[in-house]
Amino acid sequence: MFKRSKFFLVTILLLLTSGFLLVGFFYWQNFKDQQDEKYDTALEYDQTKALENIALSVSSTLNVNDPKNLSPQIYQVRFGILMYHHIDDKNKRLSVRPENLDAQIKYLLDSGYKFIKLSEAFKNFASSTSSTYPYNKTLVLTFDDGYRDFYINAYPILKKYKVPAGLYVINQDLGKRGNVTWEMIRQLHDEGLVEIGVHTINHLPLGKLKPDIAYYQMAKSKELLEQGLHDKIDTIVYPFGSFNENVKKQAQQIGFIGAASVYFGQRPSGQDLYSWRRTMITNSDLGPILLRKLYIAFELAK
Ligand SMILES: [Zn+2]
Repeated sequence: MFKRSKFFLVTILLLLTSGFLLVGFFYWQNFKDQQDEKYDTALEYDQTKALENIALSVSSTLNVNDPKNLSPQIYQVRFGILMYHHIDDKNKRLSVRPENLDAQIKYLLDSGYKFIKLSEAFKNFASSTSSTYPYNKTLVLTFDDGYRDFYINAYPILKKYKVPAGLYVINQDLGKRGNVTWEMIRQLHDEGLVEIGVHTINHLPLGKLKPDIAYYQMAKSKELLEQGLHDKIDTIVYPFGSFNENVKKQAQQIGFIGAASVYFGQRPSGQDLYSWRRTMITNSDLGPILLRKLYIAFELAK
């Protein structure tokens, strides 16, 4: 009798403990997702506002709001870098629906644009003289954070159009729920259409870290990816676009051939390869509106 009740007590205690652990785990996961969302949303807000301000400041001369002016001939972009996060149907602020990504790529191809990898662009700009712009109607597709929906939804579209892109992964998240696995990035890397790049170990804003920690975040991530993929990994995109002069210098010392930020980076040039601007593409950037956004970000903005 005594043994039996002790057995029940232990069982109940075990059940209660695992219950608490489970609830705690899901609560923590949810909290983490919310934190990520908050950061990225704030970033997107800043970028959208900056773009709107530029659109306003040029609207008097260009009348960008006139639908007649929404033509691929007017909005010619020499070189630009597009930034994506989730490719899914979740209707979040950072989500682009797969069919819209398909439509965006198709529209740009139909308008005469070609796509190259970020590493190729860095090499080409580095070797071109400052007076010549090495590209015309050339774009780069970048996907941040290494979400699994890239592998499931975006990769088939890239393969369909034979369009290259870059996937920038966070080491701590590899293999976790909703993120790509090592196996997936090995496959992507081996098939050659997608280049894997560094998005650091822990996805912290590099410009706000102590120098030795910023260095570790970049160098260790590069080292681990190179070990795992048996190849040189030479591009980085800064988490949240955050950088400073020291981060740029370190990125160069570590051996990256270039680095990309987000909207507040520099317009791509051979003068400064370590803080190139990218612009966030949203679900509603379709057709000429997409091209106008790229034009404002890469031709009009200083
Ligand atoms: Zn990120």
